[in-house]
Amino acid sequence: MSFYKHSQSRRTFLKAVGTAGAGAFLASLNSPADAAEGAATMPTRPYGKSGVQVSILSFGGSLDTSMSLLVLRQAFKWGVTYWDTANSYMGGRSERGMGKYIEKYPGDRHRIFLVTKSHAWTMRGMSRDLDESLERLKTNYVDLFFVHSVRSPNDLDNDMKAWADKMKAQGKIRLFGFSTHSNMEACMLAAAKLGWIDGIMMSYNYRRMHTEDMKRAVAACTGAGIGLTAMKTQGGGQIRTNTPSELKLAGRFLNKGFTDGQAKLKAVWSNPAISSICSEMPNMTILKSNVAAALDRTTLSHRDMELLQHHARKTRAHYCAGCTDICESSALGNIPVGDVMRCLMYARSYGDHERAKEQFFKIAPAARRQMSNTDFTLAEQRCPQGMPISRLMKEAVEEFAS
Ligand code: SF4
Repeated sequence: MSFYKHSQSRRTFLKAVGTAGAGAFLASLNSPADAAEGAATMPTRPYGKSGVQVSILSFGGSLDTSMSLLVLRQAFKWGVTYWDTANSYMGGRSERGMGKYIEKYPGDRHRIFLVTKSHAWTMRGMSRDLDESLERLKTNYVDLFFVHSVRSPNDLDNDMKAWADKMKAQGKIRLFGFSTHSNMEACMLAAAKLGWIDGIMMSYNYRRMHTEDMKRAVAACTGAGIGLTAMKTQGGGQIRTNTPSELKLAGRFLNKGFTDGQAKLKAVWSNPAISSICSEMPNMTILKSNVAAALDRTTLSHRDMELLQHHARKTRAHYCAGCTDICESSALGNIPVGDVMRCLMYARSYGDHERAKEQFFKIAPAARRQMSNTDFTLAEQRCPQGMPISRLMKEAVEEFAS
């Protein structure tokens, strides 16, 4: 669709950059304002069979964007025109911030691929949430509406399809799909058979992308014309350089001109089936680094990918793969192990203790009380990542419950 195209071509940008490369170009900028006047063009990819081209980097808005209008402005100017938010993010402050931006720059709206989500599991609830989202976002439509955190293929029923068709007919949404952190491959395979899912956002990174299950799920979705957005692409945070091999890996990437964080983005972009990477970018530094990675066409070598996979294997017990069907059915009680693991990831990998606590307190009080006393022996035996579930559940209670 023409509204997502940018006025200046990538060729123009490369001409401006010369042989120094995009990274050097961005590093040479004196201020974000310089870049705003620059000729950079963010690469785009088709979003499934929708006919829409989206920027390969999208602005993950799970933060208070009303405090980040300058970052949003700069993201837009650098071509990050796919914006992701949700009704629940920061109690609505994420959507309000984006709405503030749209109110201030109404001419930009038609170039932004705007996505929001709802946790409501009833059609009435989703209608209410969507209307609220439109009000906060200061727009009369979203480009893509996601049901938030689908955990099972059974969540995708005919009522949902009827609702999506109705909202499309009313012009409130253009595309419909879901986000998923748990049992993703099963949800994706089911969605590929339905014929009415336009897009999916799932955890996808150098740890997940090479598993046979994920490869099969991605191929099925691609075949069905479903647009795919990768999230949690850092796979549990930075390489920590706690061991000589980690230090060597981080150094290897730096010698090539990018950080390990940028290398992980490149690993995901190496799969053309991924339309976009959704990344939370709360400040100019992270925005600039991610944009530089998107613009720099240096690809990872076969050896780079092998080393990332080796690192993934060595550190697998630090990363929850979201296969909650395995552990949650193996423990007595109703403990949402995957949700707790995500809280730990927010706190320990992203340093976002506020969000970790906020998410932790969304877990039912009865489950929180049982967490420390539940027997996870069988779950630990079955966990493909070999995670010390029992210890981590206890630590989560100690870390977040007070
Ligand atoms: S704790 Fe283990 S079994 Fe449970 S979701 Fe995470 S990786 Fe899968």
